[in-house]
Amino acid sequence: MKNFFDNAINLESLSILFSQAPVGLAMLMGEDHVVLTANVLCLEFWQKGSEVIGLPILEALPEIANQEFPKILREVYQTGTTFKGSKIKTLIEKDSVLQTYYFDFIYTPIFDTERITGISVVAIDVTEQVSTELKLKENELLFRELMEISDYSTAIYTGQDLIVTFANDQMLKSWGKTRAVIGQKLEDAIPELDGQPFAQILRDVLTTGKPYIATEDKVDLVVDDMLQSYYYSISYRPLHNASGEIYAIWNMAMNVTELVEARLKAQRAVKEYRDLAEAMPHIVWTTGTDGRLIYFNENLEILLNRSRAQIADLDFEQVIHKEDFQNLKRIWALAEVEKKIFELEFRIYDGRGEKFVWYLNRATPVLDDEGNIFQWIGASTNIDEFKKLSAQKDTFLGIASHELKTPLTSLKLYAQVLERMLRKTGDEKNAEVAKKMDIQIVKLTSLIGDLLDVTKINSGKIHLNKEDFDFEKLALEIIEDQQMSTSYQIEFKTKSVGMVFADRDRVGQVMTNLISNAIKYAPNTDKIIVQIIEANGNVEFSVEDFGIGMPADKKDRVFEQYYRVSGDDGNTFPGIGLGLFISAEIVERSNGKIWVESVLEKGSTFSFSLPQVKS
Ligand code: ADP
Repeated sequence: MKNFFDNAINLESLSILFSQAPVGLAMLMGEDHVVLTANVLCLEFWQKGSEVIGLPILEALPEIANQEFPKILREVYQTGTTFKGSKIKTLIEKDSVLQTYYFDFIYTPIFDTERITGISVVAIDVTEQVSTELKLKENELLFRELMEISDYSTAIYTGQDLIVTFANDQMLKSWGKTRAVIGQKLEDAIPELDGQPFAQILRDVLTTGKPYIATEDKVDLVVDDMLQSYYYSISYRPLHNASGEIYAIWNMAMNVTELVEARLKAQRAVKEYRDLAEAMPHIVWTTGTDGRLIYFNENLEILLNRSRAQIADLDFEQVIHKEDFQNLKRIWALAEVEKKIFELEFRIYDGRGEKFVWYLNRATPVLDDEGNIFQWIGASTNIDEFKKLSAQKDTFLGIASHELKTPLTSLKLYAQVLERMLRKTGDEKNAEVAKKMDIQIVKLTSLIGDLLDVTKINSGKIHLNKEDFDFEKLALEIIEDQQMSTSYQIEFKTKSVGMVFADRDRVGQVMTNLISNAIKYAPNTDKIIVQIIEANGNVEFSVEDFGIGMPADKKDRVFEQYYRVSGDDGNTFPGIGLGLFISAEIVERSNGKIWVESVLEKGSTFSFSLPQVKS
């Protein structure tokens, strides 16, 4: 055996081993650490050639003068203790630039019997390994930093014990906990999780490797010493080590409580409105811009006697009375253009009773941010009974006023005869009484006339005897007539405006009505102004007074049946709210227009226009 070693370890083989070794090897001799020998790799580490052999180390490698090596070498040389250094940062000059390397070193003292004569150097280049490690560390730091500043709450749980190895501030805040929980088991850190499914889910992810993702989980957490419920969007993703095993779970979470609560609130509100809509005796509905129903309450199903699906596909022309349908289309289109409330009475087919029933239908347009209609919200109210009663009332009024007319005509005649007879006998006092009686009979006759007209209008039976007549001449006649029975001065600004084609008596009735209203609604004044003009192929008649006027929001309603600005209180101004309704009907049926301009407490100007007959 000894022989084998004696033979094998000869100087030559040692020298080969020395020079070819995959580590840097060198021997430094004496106090100045003169480079006695250095293998190829060592010279390569130093970035030097064989010229350094024989030089003291500081001359061979001047760049190490300010590094820690001279001190270490000195210590090893003086104390005789081996120095082992791991991952020592070393600056070496390469291409005239100092570059950083990392080495594992062993400096071993060389003893010559008792004395230390030199140092053997073993150096292993670990630069690559160190820089990989540094990179990893940098990456980890970056990752942590990113996680810390992330708007998401994030945490890492390691192992089956679910140790909280990382949690960013956001996550700690969500838990209502401090950094003290880091390093603890999740279930110890957040005891209120007991009874909630999350720890089990995390363990399932650990075993199955399948991530868990939930958009809206309810989590109960003790925050500010109070158990509170939150909604979180959560992800649990498995983290794998180098050998592909799952070792931890990465948890990202975002508090969506406000969003969810807002949605739940909105859903509750929608439900409340739906319940409200269902509880109403009306038909309630919404449509899109194409007129198709989006929502409708059960009352529509009951009325039409059809299922929801059938109604959704329904063509409305099938269930709306054909006499009303064109009108409906026209008014709807108008409301659409003007983006205003749609309102119309029309008949809907009652699928249960197989007859048409009158409904009052109203719909409000709903506008988007750009002011375009995107929906209509509507309600339909059954007014069939009301319509029937109203028709009965009209029939009654028609008969009653007709029956009253004949005795009134006789009465008027008697009053006139009586007045004349009394004047003849010189009984002026009683003659005046008879005259007053006659005036009251005239008023009564006109009232009854109005009632008759309304019943005619409502039943579509008003008849206009149209003819060509001189508009100015008619106006003059009416004004003259009116002037006789009033102390007000009627100022007439006139000019010849030509002929119109209409019912002369009815147009006269409109003029009379506007003038008598101007006088009635302007007490404590003494003048009204009547004017006729020509404008754009029309004749215009207007009456201006300086009376009570009316609020802007009421002015368009005065043309409605029975509408009175002061309500039903006829104490101040007698009347029943029919004159303007009848006037409007007459004007409109003569292809004209009627309107009012008015300022409260300043006065009003009522006008109407009719098309001029072209000569
Ligand atoms: P009536 O005078 O019988 O009430 P009308 O149809 O003639 O009915 O008028 C309807 C309503 O319009 C009146 O009740 C009144 O409130 C208002 N009105 C009409 N003319 C005038 C006017 N010249 N000035 C102010 N208000 C008026």
